Amino acid sequence: MVDTEKARLDALHALNVLETAQEERFDRLTRIAARAFNAPIALVSLVDRDRQWFKSRQGLDVSETPRSLAFCEHAVRSRELVLVPDATKDGRFEDNPLVTGDPNIRFYAGAPLFSSCGRYVLGTLCVIDTIPRLDTEPHLPILEDLAATASHELAAGHAREQMEHALSGLDDERSLHRLVIENMPATLAVINTDLTYKLINQSFSQFSHGKLRPGMRMRDVLGEERFAIIEPYLKRALEGHTVHFEAASTDKDGEPINYEVRYQPNFDAHGNVISITALGTDVTRRRRLESSIAALARMHFGANANLAENSQDALGRVANLLNMRFAGIMRRSPTGQFESTVTHAPDGFQIGGMPVAKHLMRRVVSSGDCVAIEDVKIDPDVSGITPGKFPIRAFAGAPIVVNNEVIGGVGFANTAPHTGKFLDIEIEVVRLAGSIIAREIARTQADEKIASRERELHELATTDPLTNLPNRRELLRRGQCEVDRARRYETTFSIAIMDIDYFKSINDTHGHATGDLTLVETANILKNAIRTVDCVGRIGGEEFALLLPETPANGAYEAMEKVRQAIEAHTYFSKDTDIKISASFGVATHQDGESLEDLMSRADQLLYLAKQSGRNQVRSDLHTRKHLTLLSAGPRKPRS
Ligand code: GH3
Ligand code: MG
Ligand code: MG
Repeated sequence: MVDTEKARLDALHALNVLETAQEERFDRLTRIAARAFNAPIALVSLVDRDRQWFKSRQGLDVSETPRSLAFCEHAVRSRELVLVPDATKDGRFEDNPLVTGDPNIRFYAGAPLFSSCGRYVLGTLCVIDTIPRLDTEPHLPILEDLAATASHELAAGHAREQMEHALSGLDDERSLHRLVIENMPATLAVINTDLTYKLINQSFSQFSHGKLRPGMRMRDVLGEERFAIIEPYLKRALEGHTVHFEAASTDKDGEPINYEVRYQPNFDAHGNVISITALGTDVTRRRRLESSIAALARMHFGANANLAENSQDALGRVANLLNMRFAGIMRRSPTGQFESTVTHAPDGFQIGGMPVAKHLMRRVVSSGDCVAIEDVKIDPDVSGITPGKFPIRAFAGAPIVVNNEVIGGVGFANTAPHTGKFLDIEIEVVRLAGSIIAREIARTQADEKIASRERELHELATTDPLTNLPNRRELLRRGQCEVDRARRYETTFSIAIMDIDYFKSINDTHGHATGDLTLVETANILKNAIRTVDCVGRIGGEEFALLLPETPANGAYEAMEKVRQAIEAHTYFSKDTDIKISASFGVATHQDGESLEDLMSRADQLLYLAKQSGRNQVRSDLHTRKHLTLLSAGPRKPRS
């Protein structure tokens, strides 16, 4: 432990950062942190032997405090983010003089700053408030990202210093290349065609925890499992293609990291691949930032909820993060015009009063790109526009792109100019806000599309397209439900099968199209004639079935007799002739324990009997039981 602490202090001191002046590259990070948490104090604190010294500080006058009192000490020891919502309720801090007395710390969140090798915690990037804060969890990933940026800046500053030192007196181009490659933050390796490492730079060597040497086999270094993942990409590169992919891995503490990898084949004079250059960039921070903002947005974008309403809070948070007073969305209306709405603003502010913001939103939408202006006063494009009732000075906006089409934009604006230049991370936040809104819109659209496609498929599967009645399959399904119900509740129901008489002659005389119209009209008569609890379906060419729940034999007979009369009375209009038709019915009532199949077949036989007895009539099992016995004994003439 003592040895580790000594090594940690050595690593800290080697950076030559203690007692150096404040620098913008750290101040901007503490500014963002203070804004993100809406907290008065934010610090980059480095934990020295007996003190913590602040490389950057917002809202605090002293440049160091004793280590014995430091909250950051806990992050150094635990190597993890430390969150204290209310210090008076935290056993570790309730007696701390900084809590019991001035400056009365209540809330503390500190994310560790790691040395470049990742082995030591040098200090923290932390935010402090004098009131308890119970709602900061969603912001913690942002704090970690900022801390990672600060760690990177600490290491980069050191590397730059070393590089400058090495560069003085260097005049050989080869050595210069080598030096640049050695010191660049991206990992670089040259891989032989036998998949051994030919050359690796320092970043890659650190990435592999210093165990990697030229000449080693990739398969051995990565292990079978990870090698299997990248093998297809290597193969493609060996075939001469440039390959991009993103790989997930873990650092030496088992923390997940994301790498963007590019394999670039190198060729000899004959065009043969002689090696592969592998370039890796750590995108963990970007992915984490993405997911943390996505999480913020998800908290407010309900799946089916109104986007404008629900984005308000999320956009408000993003606006705060950017130190902007207004947030707004521009979206294309159904008429194709772009309409802007302010979703986050002090009371009474309206987009109408912000012509400059409106203009810049249109620029975002027409260019399809981010627009970030620190001060509109020095932007020539905006100088001719009247400032309006609520003159804005700073603006940052990003397009909302769905399916490669710019459908709108999201923008943030402020009445004061932006402090300093917009940082990459700030532009990234604006861009992400746009892409998250786009993702939400795309998701809602996709959900709707899937739902309507499902409805469509269901219709197709259950409906007869000509008459829009349930088809045979659907009618049988409902029939089965009735059979089940009859068994469970000991009720009964009837089924009728109806077939149009001499329908073939309608087709033959008037044509198939008229035949179709006749079927549609018959379907309408059937729909109108039945009770709402009944169900009618088309089960064959000119054959229909009716389900009559809770209906005994005599009731079913009477109902079908009425339908038969309605059909007989109806005159169908075709182009030249009035058409009259009739239909025959077989009606069977469900008997105890009878299957749907048996019931249908009885109804079918009764229909056959109706046809045989001269058509245009209803046959019910009540009246014809004796005939049935006879019929079922003999062969049955098939009907189409
Ligand atoms: P029956 O009184 O014995 O029922 O005589 P039918 O002519 O009605 O019976 P058959 O089974 O001999 O002929 C039925 C005809 O219905 C044959 C076919 O051309 C016609 N048909 C079946 N489906 C359709 C359709 O969707 N549209 C049209 N227009 N005709 C159809
Ligand atoms: Mg017929
Ligand atoms: Mg038929």
